[in-house]
Amino acid sequence: MTLNKDLLDILACPKCKGDLRLTPEEDGLICEKCGVAYPIRDEIPIMLVEEAIPLTAWEERRPAREPRES
Ligand SMILES: [Zn+2]
Repeated sequence: MTLNKDLLDILACPKCKGDLRLTPEEDGLICEKCGVAYPIRDEIPIMLVEEAIPLTAWEERRPAREPRES
């Protein structure tokens, strides 16, 4: 199961209340405005400012990531 669109519409950044977008891997929610990603653990988005990961650090978590073929 992945997060559905309805849930995504309800969720907002706890910092700026802005819109979030799902990462391509669907393992996090990104707030472009704040430049952070909120991790999704066990299909539950961790919507806590304290748990937010800076996007730079988020990208560095997967240095070996290959482009996904579609
Ligand atoms: Zn934000």
